[in-house]
Amino acid sequence: MAKYIFITGGVVSSLGKGISGASIGKLLQLHGFKVNMIKFDPYINVDPGTMNPYQHGEVFVTSDGAESDLDLGTYERFLDLYTSKSNTNTAGDIYKTVITKERKGDYDGDTVQVIPHITDEIKRRFSALKDECEISIIEIGGTVGDIEGLPFMEAARQFKLENNPEDVLSIHVTLVPYIAGAHELKTKPTQHSVNKLREIGISPDMIICRTEQPLDDSLKRKISLFCNVKQECVIEALDVPSIYYIPEALYKQKVDVLVIEKLNIKPKAKFDKTWFTKIESLSEHHKIVKIAVVGKYSDLKDAYKSIDESLNIASAELKAKAEIHYLGVEDKNLINKLKWYNGILVPGGFGNRGIEGKIKAINFARENKIPFFGICLGMQCSVIEAARNLAKLKNANSTEFDETTKYPVIKILDEQKDVKYRGGTMRLGNYKSEIKKNTLAHSLYKSNEIEERHRHRYEMNPEFIELLEKAGMIVSAYHKKVLPEIVEIKSHPFFIGVQFHPEFASRPMKAHPIFKGFINAALKNKN
Ligand code: GLN
Repeated sequence: MAKYIFITGGVVSSLGKGISGASIGKLLQLHGFKVNMIKFDPYINVDPGTMNPYQHGEVFVTSDGAESDLDLGTYERFLDLYTSKSNTNTAGDIYKTVITKERKGDYDGDTVQVIPHITDEIKRRFSALKDECEISIIEIGGTVGDIEGLPFMEAARQFKLENNPEDVLSIHVTLVPYIAGAHELKTKPTQHSVNKLREIGISPDMIICRTEQPLDDSLKRKISLFCNVKQECVIEALDVPSIYYIPEALYKQKVDVLVIEKLNIKPKAKFDKTWFTKIESLSEHHKIVKIAVVGKYSDLKDAYKSIDESLNIASAELKAKAEIHYLGVEDKNLINKLKWYNGILVPGGFGNRGIEGKIKAINFARENKIPFFGICLGMQCSVIEAARNLAKLKNANSTEFDETTKYPVIKILDEQKDVKYRGGTMRLGNYKSEIKKNTLAHSLYKSNEIEERHRHRYEMNPEFIELLEKAGMIVSAYHKKVLPEIVEIKSHPFFIGVQFHPEFASRPMKAHPIFKGFINAALKNKN
């Protein structure tokens, strides 16, 4: 059985197509189906690895090392699955494949065109996971009407034509804005957006309407008539306090039943409602924990999406609510502000902007015994801080920020020096490491071996380990016995730095052990 659900978006961007698709996927999963999701992004970048998180949000890394859109994180967290390179596609990557084939002469003298060559490649990728799952949910990024999205819409139209119509479902997510002055919800943008979609040849089977106010029956009827969908297929998607409540909101409107009917399939298991109650219980909290995330991007939460989710998930499991504040490293008042928090996290990043601010924040956390968690660049900065202030290596640094430093405690490995291009040249994806016994890391993971996702070029320089260990910072995990993966400070209540990205591995009800340990320590640090 190979069934496909296409998710498109209209009116404005950021409507949460990924979340809507993942919520439908969750419902189908609770009916016993094997579900997976694929993202198609219409931009020309081959992958988002080189894109500024300010513009595009966090770069999510899959276990097999693809640098991808943050929606893949949503898919993983909702569906508790592991995505891979096949789950992420961009126009750039699709064109690259077609152009490479053309250069190799694979098209036999044909004129290579958007239709059929690009659309054929897109269609091939639509069914990339058909052998691994029963239902593929395909999210097409961007908004209907965008020039660059056209080949994807065209490919989706052809795909339905070439497949059994009951194997392919089209869901359109739109906005029904509320005009405060008129006290009215407006359906016109939705009508226009669906018209645009129908011009391309796609008739949606269901419309999910993002709205601030409930849609009454007359509005649903209007949308139904103008957009040519059954009234019960006009779905209201009201704002909810947590995105994990959306599957239940859709379930109450029978979205799962409608999808199952339209795809002509039979539920494979008795619907498991306990997921809803477990999610609800996560919102009961008795305490607040205040966490400062000290990074480069202080105003865009999406730049640290998985960290935000991981902190919330871990706090919820400990019956606490995380109050997470993103503090800019360049804030002159940073150290004063930090006094207010129960725990300090320094996330990953690239480039030397704000490095000294991060090091100061880490110094403050270390000296004042505030729970500290450093991720990737955050870990590297904690090594620099320990080298300078514990081991007294004056001006110790990473060669990323000071190529001529006398004490390169973080450096690029010799085999990586030839790297000329950005993107695709880092230690990317899953790597195993061994954890030493009697360490904080061991007490958190309760395991001797772990596997975590990486995305970095620089490493802790093994030449300085002995010196640092004598000064108080130990290495508690290594990859293949040589590459330091976790550092900690024994005399501190909770100080840990990890070279990898544990934030990609959290799921609701399955908090990551380091995040959980960090929040637990922060809760103990409440004054
Ligand atoms: N810039 C650092 C490196 O390349 C850290 C990267 C990161 O934090 N993801 O090693």
